[in-house]
Amino acid sequence: MPADGPSPPTPSERLLALDAAHAWHPYTSTIDRDPVYPVRCARGCEIELLDGRRLVDGMSSWWCAIHGYGHPVLDAAARDQLSRMSHVMFGGLTHAPAVDLIERLVSLTPEPLQHVFLCDSGSVSVEVAMKMALQYQQAAGQPSRARFLTPRRGYHGDTFHAMSVCDPQTGMHHLFNRVLPQQLFAPAPAPAFGEPCTDADMAAFSELIERNADQLAAVILEPIVQGAGGMRFYSAEYLARARALCDRHGVLLIADEIATGFGRTGALFACEHADICPDIMTLGKALTGGYLTLAATLATNRVAATISGGEPGVFMHGPTFMGNPLACAVANASIDLLLSEDWRAKIQRIEAGLRQGLNRCRTLPGVVDVRVLGAIGVVEMQTRVAMRDVQRRFVELGVWVRPFGRLIYLMPPFIIDDEQLRRLCDATYRVVEETSGDGH
Ligand code: PMP
Repeated sequence: MPADGPSPPTPSERLLALDAAHAWHPYTSTIDRDPVYPVRCARGCEIELLDGRRLVDGMSSWWCAIHGYGHPVLDAAARDQLSRMSHVMFGGLTHAPAVDLIERLVSLTPEPLQHVFLCDSGSVSVEVAMKMALQYQQAAGQPSRARFLTPRRGYHGDTFHAMSVCDPQTGMHHLFNRVLPQQLFAPAPAPAFGEPCTDADMAAFSELIERNADQLAAVILEPIVQGAGGMRFYSAEYLARARALCDRHGVLLIADEIATGFGRTGALFACEHADICPDIMTLGKALTGGYLTLAATLATNRVAATISGGEPGVFMHGPTFMGNPLACAVANASIDLLLSEDWRAKIQRIEAGLRQGLNRCRTLPGVVDVRVLGAIGVVEMQTRVAMRDVQRRFVELGVWVRPFGRLIYLMPPFIIDDEQLRRLCDATYRVVEETSGDGH
């Protein structure tokens, strides 16, 4: 007779035990661990857990999986590219996937942006953009212009220069202050999207840029939507005025479109809402439809020519995986797929669904604001959300939503259907209602 020993761990238990022992998840402690949910696969707009539960995805995997998961067109593009080459270096070599992508990006973005630097991730593309601005000012004979001005409540990534222009309160400045470059911060844009922006609204920004112009390389901002710094939607007129102030003072404008690019706000790029062109633009996240890590920094002829005509005459950056053919091939397929569809109609349908589904949260206690723009829906609470409990409740309700700070937000894949969208909104309402009841 076999002895009654402990039964062997299930695959899920084994995975979770190894994860708990060795995997360091984003923004977490290795001691006081946040729960994690093991995933078997993801298809369409659903994430399937190892235990068989299927969750409607409300996050697009941190805003990148715009076509959902396992899309046949993107899968085929990856397989096709894999049969030729997964990667070759971009120093001294070039290839069709990268050049085709560069051509697409140049043709889709405002005309003055003619030069594309491909890199690994959003944060790196921000570092690249900031280095471009510094090299530009140096080459233009203004080396004292070496700082950056940015509105508060922004987020630009977790690497050092990117961190230095994140919101000084909600960002990580307090931890790294001694080594972070000291930047200048304007108040967060006050007028909301759709509202006018007055001289008074720009007064502090205007004064900062005027007083510090001789030290400023560039203004960096997220156009229209401030994402991870607070999910705020601000006036297009603010953006237009910021562009004009940069021009007046010889300061470059960097538009970080990493979160907003490729349709999320209802325009292909958020700069279109204000009809402006930045000197430098960063793209990432949805660039590959969420399949592979890839980002791009685009620069105008003027920026590229000044850097190239100055000392040392080259732009000093070159990541190992620059222009990765596999990622570029999927990015090309993702962009073509997006443009082949009536993506504006899709975003408008999602926008209408989010408005209808989330507006009723307004009347719940503890809710400060509900706002929707394009395929982004936000419920802002009075106090911090108890993330672990709320996350568990969302999973119990069959949806994947990951709040942060005081914000519960939805950024679903563009392929979401009406029923799935309703489930996301209903779950959000339920959770907000329960949270309010808890007095959290
Ligand atoms: N800029 C913005 C506006 C972002 O939203 C993010 C990521 N949330 C980044 C930069 C950083 O991108 P990554 O996480 O790919 O480094």
